[in-house]
Amino acid sequence: MQNRYDLIIVGAGASGLMAAIVASQKQQKILLVEHMEQAGRKLRITGKGRCNLTNTAPIKEFISHIGSDGRFMRNAFSMFFNTELMQFFEDKGVALNIERGSRVFPQSGKSLDIFLALIKTIESNKNITILKNAAVKNILTTNEGVCGVVLDDGKNVISNKVILATGGKSYPQTGSTGDGYTMVQALGHTIVEPIPSLVPLVCSENIPSELVGFTLKNVTLTISDKNDKKICEHFGELTFTENGIGGPIVLSTSRIVSRLLHNGEQLKATLDLKPALAIDVLDKKLIRELDENGTRVLKDALRLWLPAEIIPLALQTMHLEHYKRLHQINAQERKQILRMLKTMPFTIVGTRNFDEAIVTQGGVSLKEVNPKTMESKIVKNLYIVGELLDLDADTGGYNLQIAFSTGFAAGKAVCE
Ligand SMILES: Cc1cc2nc3c(=O)[nH]c(=O)nc-3n(C[C@H](O)[C@H](O)[C@H](O)COP(=O)(O)OP(=O)(O)OC[C@H]3O[C@@H](n4cnc5c(N)ncnc54)[C@H](O)[C@@H]3O)c2cc1C
Repeated sequence: MQNRYDLIIVGAGASGLMAAIVASQKQQKILLVEHMEQAGRKLRITGKGRCNLTNTAPIKEFISHIGSDGRFMRNAFSMFFNTELMQFFEDKGVALNIERGSRVFPQSGKSLDIFLALIKTIESNKNITILKNAAVKNILTTNEGVCGVVLDDGKNVISNKVILATGGKSYPQTGSTGDGYTMVQALGHTIVEPIPSLVPLVCSENIPSELVGFTLKNVTLTISDKNDKKICEHFGELTFTENGIGGPIVLSTSRIVSRLLHNGEQLKATLDLKPALAIDVLDKKLIRELDENGTRVLKDALRLWLPAEIIPLALQTMHLEHYKRLHQINAQERKQILRMLKTMPFTIVGTRNFDEAIVTQGGVSLKEVNPKTMESKIVKNLYIVGELLDLDADTGGYNLQIAFSTGFAAGKAVCE
């Protein structure tokens, strides 16, 4: 390795790999520094190993899935959006499929194919040198802007352009340890406090052990504030965890919930176990079924309406006598059953930590970054891309597209 390059890219994740490929079209000497033994470790586990690389939603809808200020992405998307990303991989021989919810996956079902398409392009490009097992500790600057980086072995590497692509803080075992925040903060950038997002929620209710890992399908989760004002609602699958709730609909709500909890708000969740039945229809059904099954005891009869695994939690929620016969249930008690089925309550007290968060919410303030080029408005020739920025989105391929598009924008800008 030499000690002078045209461009240094810090981090060989989705955004850094894309930036390197785009920049290599003009830049002759690029150093791509990665502190893990292998590049793209997170990319390889995305989408449960299948890599949901983007979403075919039109731009307006796409942006509505991005938190903070999604409009920041307009410029980058106008250069390189979902269709360009799909074309990019298809040109590299990776066939793609569009699945339910407009999610795009490699046809092979293997995220490895996405990673290999990127890394093979890089490895076959003589303009790019990859330095693995080496961490960048600091970015060197002069009054003119960036002038290089300091590696963890103390060596300085000189370059008057640096793209910082170190990712967020989620899944730190993949290498995303939050180093970028410290480096840019030292240069005067503002960091919107990073918090876990797309993450399971922790509830104060005791989750019976038989329920842990159990998934409910076709349920509706509603999150409300302490005054019962509805904040958001999602329909789909929910999985119980040892201290709360997870699964797709919980991850979707967690983007809003995580920030509100962090701001000290008290939140409640209610679960509608019978969303297809309006409350009055369900009540009529209950009246009929209580009558038809009058001699059965409540504890067993709950099987009429619920899967066996959730019955201990249902009983815990209702505070009704478990061995009461159904013909003994009075109107008030029937309302309790109805409430349990339509609005099973959970008190949300927190989220799981970064180890289990799909993305990091927060990061480098978007006000301090040029949305066309990703160049820092504070340090000339420093470019900030990917999850390190204060950008995060719903599940559905939006987060990887942000990483690829911002990497593309910076890779192109350094060539101009
Ligand atoms: C389990 C999981 C599944 C996911 N599935 C999807 C999905 O299907 N679709 C989707 O859109 N999004 C998904 N995401 C989110 C998506 O993977 C990220 O948003 C995206 O990878 C961010 O890309 P990035 O380049 O900004 O950062 P990263 O991919 O995190 O890459 C950052 C790189 O920088 C390196 N690095 C960090 N610090 C240093 C340093 N000091 N010196 C040198 N190198 C450093 C890291 O080792 C890492 O390789 C998933 C995330 C997780 C955790």
